[in-house]
Amino acid sequence: MVKDSDLNELSTPLFLKPLHVGRPNVGNRDRFLKRVHEIFDQMWFTNGGILVQQFEKELTRYLGVKHCIPVCNATLGLEIAIRAIGMQAEVLVPSFTFVATPHSLAWQGITPVFCDVNPLTHNLDIRKIEKKITPRTTGIIGVHVWGNACEIEALTELAKRRNLHLIFDAAHAFGCSHQGKMIGNFGALEVFSFHATKFFNTFEGGAIATNNDDLAAKIRLMKNFGFSAMDQVIFPGTNGKMTEIAAAMGLTSLESINEFIACNKRNYDLYRQCLQSVPGIKVFEHPSEQRHNYQYVILEINEDEFKMNRDSLMEALHSQNVLARRYFFPGCHQMKPYQTNPSAHLEQTDALSSRVLSLPNGTSVNERDIRAIASFIRKCGKQRKNPTKEI
Ligand SMILES: *Cc1c(COP(=O)(O)O)cnc(C)c1O
Repeated sequence: MVKDSDLNELSTPLFLKPLHVGRPNVGNRDRFLKRVHEIFDQMWFTNGGILVQQFEKELTRYLGVKHCIPVCNATLGLEIAIRAIGMQAEVLVPSFTFVATPHSLAWQGITPVFCDVNPLTHNLDIRKIEKKITPRTTGIIGVHVWGNACEIEALTELAKRRNLHLIFDAAHAFGCSHQGKMIGNFGALEVFSFHATKFFNTFEGGAIATNNDDLAAKIRLMKNFGFSAMDQVIFPGTNGKMTEIAAAMGLTSLESINEFIACNKRNYDLYRQCLQSVPGIKVFEHPSEQRHNYQYVILEINEDEFKMNRDSLMEALHSQNVLARRYFFPGCHQMKPYQTNPSAHLEQTDALSSRVLSLPNGTSVNERDIRAIASFIRKCGKQRKNPTKEI
């Protein structure tokens, strides 16, 4: 028999308005609008305008890196980076990433060769990479999944020893550090995403960070059609420029970045505290000794212990208007464009993408929301524990 209280729960969701994963973190609206007025006063909308120049300066300072070149989005940023550095033929990438990582290779005729991940870190497993190197391999793209640095030292050593290019997809990792140094300073270059759903946003946008002057010069040309001077084009480029309106948002976001981080961390700590004793639920831990943006609250569901699988929990949460997301599901190697890749079997990636669930975080999520979500999750686990008892 279903109790009255259960019926109520079935008919009215916990949240009247949906709670999304990746709702934008937004800085001070008035300051943003003031900048928008400046753009109209200047009538300089793009092509390296005043705000993009200022944004670039502040990004380089924030990251402590020599160059941080704003671009229109991270996907195009990756494509430009891959071409500027000269990757070709085959490049090693994790499959447990957003599909833009392999797309940025495939889009320019390079085969992404997928490698498995370490189930503890969710990042590239250094022990599994070397076997995938062939005479056609030209590079590695590491991804700092959830903002956690991959095994940078081991990857750097491997790349050096095997004469491969090494770059990082740092789409998740703005505001994060590794061994006391900001992400943005590693590999030949690193690419950030400032998409609206990311920790730090410019509506759409991204940036390429590097300490290599020659590479930076090449990237600047490539993102601007290959123009080296007025009417002078020295190689095929593309249009990867950031607009002034995006930079206005970026500058405004930067002013509030510490508040975003503080809020994310508060939320993340509370989620962990409320969920730590739920059998079969593990909240992925971010390293406490590094700077971190705490944007991702990642659950790993152990179906046997929790007595409910990840997809059922997701559906249950959705029915309450908590729009939790499966990341990255399916792994890229299972997606249609890549099913025929010679990347074979990725056991850990498949297992991980069937047990991971991302919960809403960011400045639009508060303490009450988190307590309600956590107690609902706890109830889901309990309900299934002894199904016969409830009849
Ligand atoms: C979001 C994301 C991208 C793409 O970023 P865009 O700015 O949307 O192009 C690339 N890689 C990863 C890992 C991402 O999460």
